[in-house]
Amino acid sequence: MSAQDFRTHGHAMVDWIADYLENAEAYPVLSQSQPGDIRASLAEDSIPETGESWDDIWSDFTKKIMPGITHWQSPNFFAYFPANVSYPSILGELLSAGLGVNGMLWATSPAATELETHVLDQLVDAMGLPDHFKGGGVIQDTASNSTLCAILCGREQAMEWQSNESGLSNQPQMAVYTSTQAHSSVEKAAKIAGVGSSFVRLIDCDSTHAMRPEDLRAAIQSDIAIGIQPIAVSATFGTTSSLAIDPLRAVGDICHEFNIWYHVDAAMAGSALICPEFRALADGLESADSFCFNPHKWLLTNFDLDVMYVKEPERLVRTLAILPEYLKTKQVKDDVINYRDWHVPLGRRFRALKLWFVLRTYGLSGLRTFIREHVRLVEMFESWVREDERFELATPRILNLVCFRLIGGDEVNERLLHRINAAGQIYMTHTKLPDGHYTLRFCVAQTNTQEQHVRSAWECILAEATSILDGRY
Ligand SMILES: *Cc1c(COP(=O)(O)O)cnc(C)c1O
Repeated sequence: MSAQDFRTHGHAMVDWIADYLENAEAYPVLSQSQPGDIRASLAEDSIPETGESWDDIWSDFTKKIMPGITHWQSPNFFAYFPANVSYPSILGELLSAGLGVNGMLWATSPAATELETHVLDQLVDAMGLPDHFKGGGVIQDTASNSTLCAILCGREQAMEWQSNESGLSNQPQMAVYTSTQAHSSVEKAAKIAGVGSSFVRLIDCDSTHAMRPEDLRAAIQSDIAIGIQPIAVSATFGTTSSLAIDPLRAVGDICHEFNIWYHVDAAMAGSALICPEFRALADGLESADSFCFNPHKWLLTNFDLDVMYVKEPERLVRTLAILPEYLKTKQVKDDVINYRDWHVPLGRRFRALKLWFVLRTYGLSGLRTFIREHVRLVEMFESWVREDERFELATPRILNLVCFRLIGGDEVNERLLHRINAAGQIYMTHTKLPDGHYTLRFCVAQTNTQEQHVRSAWECILAEATSILDGRY
């Protein structure tokens, strides 16, 4: 493709993206394609011997690929947690692609490293995070990888910095602690770190689905009593099921008492800390050794971008540093940050650009308005659930997520969700809370969701519920 063709197709594609995002609600949110449909439509397609015209490729994209897209950017996306985007963030992605930088070392693009450190330090102030996180920020791809790095740090620290070098065979059995409501990434990280999933202790929760600190202490003590070495605790600030918040201070006190690495996973809810009024929810965060949250969920930044802060980055670097000859640069070790030593992969994209564009374009007041509006819309939705005697709240609402049920049992709720998603107008997902019951989740966090979308979502839910209760389905 020539530079001139790139200009032409690039301009057209920017127009297409703007049209798409402006009209995203016209699509059924959940792709209606069946397993194998997309592959079947590509059956004739083989890598051509000689290149094809962009028009042909583009036409196949619109005809064959678009039907298999679930529209995460639809304002009617209320499922899971979102992956919200914004125009400045998309431009940041584009620019990062254009520069094509690999920022593995300071020297491989000083700006990629220094902008990242700068923006993450600014966020510490903007979000009221503990001051000791300054200089300890790193952009990871996902929360899962932040949690993995945290558990690896915990392992190394507990094994007196020997396990990376000598392996685990002469080390005691290790254990990791998290709640029954924690994200599956904690278990995955424990598997990768050599802990073993049967040594992930799932601590029970109270009625708000928050970890019980006294149970955590008891589990740690009984492991120590039989020679098992606790290495890390992962608390959650906003669980995936219900946005429950573990008692960060009480958990932190226990971690300090037993000298265990303390990680706080705030993948979704962390973005809310940009608003001062929500900071009390994170009371005790200063005792965390590491903390992560996903601007790619709720801070207008394209997937992927997770922010991780470490209280003592020396420990993270000590855990992950490598220095083969071909990566040696003339900068003396302590002079500059080489982010390749702060995460699992060597290479890294220039992700800080999109976050910097977002923060500057919206400003703090724009970001706060965005978060507050979502919380307001969910409060409104919660009040409708409360007022309708056919429904119940499954757990108290936290921030921008409501967990609720149609009264009448699991089967009825499963059918209701299926009907709602098959209708295509909105997309919601479910969870099971510790009571074992099927629970509907309604999360507002998509960039363009407005009051009218939430109102019609409720109408859609009511219409399907009425049909089910009338016995029509
Ligand atoms: C979404 C989520 C994750 C996983 O996020 P990734 O960035 O996809 O790894 C981890 N923890 C919690 C609490 C989440 O909500």
